[in-house]
Amino acid sequence: MTSIAFIGLGNMGGPMAANLVKAGRKVTAFDLVEASRNQAKADGAGIADSAASAVKGAEVVVTMLPAGKHVLSVWSEILPAMAKGSLIIDCSTIDVESAKQAHALAANHGIASVDAPVSGGTGGAKAGTLTFMCGGEGKAFEAAKPVLEKMGKKIVHCGGAGAGQAAKICNNMILGVSMIAVSEAFALAEKLGLSHQALFEVASTSSGQCWSLTSYCPVPGPVPTSPANNDYKPGFASALMVKDLTLAQDAAKAAGAATPLGKHAQEIYKDFDAAGNGGVDFSGIIRHVRDLSRT
Ligand code: NAD
Repeated sequence: MTSIAFIGLGNMGGPMAANLVKAGRKVTAFDLVEASRNQAKADGAGIADSAASAVKGAEVVVTMLPAGKHVLSVWSEILPAMAKGSLIIDCSTIDVESAKQAHALAANHGIASVDAPVSGGTGGAKAGTLTFMCGGEGKAFEAAKPVLEKMGKKIVHCGGAGAGQAAKICNNMILGVSMIAVSEAFALAEKLGLSHQALFEVASTSSGQCWSLTSYCPVPGPVPTSPANNDYKPGFASALMVKDLTLAQDAAKAAGAATPLGKHAQEIYKDFDAAGNGGVDFSGIIRHVRDLSRT
């Protein structure tokens, strides 16, 4: 039985660690927050009193942390305590540069590493249906796959160090831009006297079809499971969309890639967030789009 250490038991990491326990793995967990440690204990994990003691004797370590600086700080603390030849997987969404630095730190300690950010949100974390986008050497990916399969349903090897993070921010840039485009189309339809259902029926089977429309429709009605039917409770909070669009812009600048729509989407979501909507689902951007028509 693979023994796993799990560091970072927040909205995503908590249920992911619980799924590893459910799959019969021995999990030793740590988080700075006591309530999160208590929840993990109730879910059947062993609790350590620090990140470094959690990883002692573990064959695989998983981290699920807020941002690049947390990952680099935690990895610097735990890598010296990990066994040579073991594996570390970071599932956080972080900047590509920090991900590459983290891989280099692990290599210096003789430890295999994978960056494996996720798509699927808290619902996917609970249901064990996340998509993992992985970067790292082929051997490390093959070792990580059986662990990730206990927390997700699709595991993709995207390339070398940092390629998982690159795939994640490119995907979420599409998502941010497409959600604004779909919201603008519904807001225009409202002005033109076209019903939500009529636009949905046409666009969902025509060239306007996309995930933001057919799986996550920003108006209530056409897709009963979308957050629009639940007063835009997340789901995927707008603050996290700002984070991912900012990571995409930082990467675009560093790589010299022109992404004008990605940049504009970042600005629109930043305005929405600054108006106190950081905790609102990102599909709530349709309210902001409607407000723009009134100004
Ligand atoms: P969260 O803030 O709920 O959880 C992060 C956890 O890390 C917290 O419990 C915090 O106490 C812990 N932590 C921070 N520093 C630590 C340290 N030094 N040692 C131990 N624990 C530490 O965030 P989340 O929503 O679980 O997201 C985690 C990552 O997943 C983020 O990078 C986020 O961008 C990404 N993500 C989130 C979602 C989502 O829908 N929530 C979806 C996809 C990806």
